[in-house]
Amino acid sequence: MVSKELDYDIVVVGGGPAGSSAAFAAAKNGVKVALLEKEECISQSVRTSGVTWIKDVKKFGIPPDCYNEIKNYSFCSPNNQVSVRDSKPRAVVLDVRKTYQWLAEQAAKEGADIFVKTNVTDVIRNNQGKISGVKTSSKENCVFNSKIVIDASGFQSVVAKSLGVVTQWERFGAGAEYEAYAEHVDSDTWWLMVGQQYSPAGYAWIFPVSKNIIRIGVGVGKPESSIDPTERLKELMEKKPGPIKNLGKITPIEFHYGLIPNDGLSRKTVYDNLILVGDSAGQANPLVLEGIRYAIMFGRVAGEVSANAIKSGDTSEKSLKKYEENWKKAIKAKINSASKIQDRWIGLSDEEWDKEIEIIGKLTPDEFIDFIKADFGLTNMVKLAAHHPKLAVRHLFNIVKGSKSKDGI
Ligand SMILES: Cc1cc2nc3c(=O)[nH]c(=O)nc-3n(C[C@H](O)[C@H](O)[C@H](O)COP(=O)(O)OP(=O)(O)OC[C@H]3O[C@@H](n4cnc5c(N)ncnc54)[C@H](O)[C@@H]3O)c2cc1C
Repeated sequence: MVSKELDYDIVVVGGGPAGSSAAFAAAKNGVKVALLEKEECISQSVRTSGVTWIKDVKKFGIPPDCYNEIKNYSFCSPNNQVSVRDSKPRAVVLDVRKTYQWLAEQAAKEGADIFVKTNVTDVIRNNQGKISGVKTSSKENCVFNSKIVIDASGFQSVVAKSLGVVTQWERFGAGAEYEAYAEHVDSDTWWLMVGQQYSPAGYAWIFPVSKNIIRIGVGVGKPESSIDPTERLKELMEKKPGPIKNLGKITPIEFHYGLIPNDGLSRKTVYDNLILVGDSAGQANPLVLEGIRYAIMFGRVAGEVSANAIKSGDTSEKSLKKYEENWKKAIKAKINSASKIQDRWIGLSDEEWDKEIEIIGKLTPDEFIDFIKADFGLTNMVKLAAHHPKLAVRHLFNIVKGSKSKDGI
């Protein structure tokens, strides 16, 4: 039974980084926005490790008390260990809850109305069959009428799925993680751990959040591996291989679990009166499956394009297409190149990983950050060629181009 109807220009479904950023940009551009989140508060459940890049957090204006800075990047494989050490921080580990709530606060400051405990269950259409809002199951079973709906509901893509325009992601990452107190934490060094014992099609990680707090987790590629990341994480915390033993006693404080799409850019992301953004659109760097910065960046684009479409009186797919053109231009080539490297990584044996991380260890901090962020632009590649005339550049170039050199690397 519907008890209440509310009218908005734009309804944003999902209060994650994509949704809050879309609501922020739309409200800032002068339209009436509702941001709907099914949980009891923004970021009640954390589903991410929260690693991103200092350049991006500064550009977004995220306050420094929302993150811990990282300047050393360590990797271990079964029989090898390398570190890329820097004099200044380039990565950060976010206080996820604080950051996501800050993003929502920015939307509220611009005038967006935020509704928590508001689970979107269905989409409504007008007489011409066009999307005209959403139904929710909250205490009041509200209907939110709107000219545009932005689906920022993450992996679930509730709006697009209920319209039947998308099906479940076929390839995705599943990750389990503890936020934990640890006795010995090197708070400016992260660890990525690769090879069969850590994760057969993925990696394990230690990301420091503060002096004594870490996030320790396991990510597994599906359907490539049938391993349960939660079970594998428990095993690793018991056996303490590699850098895990150096943490001393580990006391879990909070458990996190999440899924992230890894199907490349397979989805159409604009329809009449509808935009998909963030994980709902598959906007993630497949190399390490990081999507927070893209969610914020393209959330803002989605909000701005939607607001302009409303002001122009044309909310058709054609009018919203600017959004899709913008984000594809920014990341399509990078994601395609990164997917090729990821395909190679998924098939590596332990011995091959021992050699692969040797190449990573030879990169300068600049080169490493470009690589891990999938910034494979021509300028970066030329710089890399000048610095590593033989080994690394040939290897990386060949993978990005999708070919192999005569000697197999
Ligand atoms: C284990 C793991 C580790 C990760 N680590 C990193 C990392 O270190 N760095 C990085 O950049 N990325 C990482 N990612 C990816 C990153 O978390 C996502 O790319 C990012 O969160 C996408 O943001 P989003 O807003 O699109 O979706 P989400 O963050 O998933 O937000 C979606 C929101 O929609 C809400 N919602 C869902 N359904 C409904 C509904 N029916 N009604 C109302 N609200 C609804 C949800 O409750 C949620 O708040 C990781 C992912 C996983 C799974």
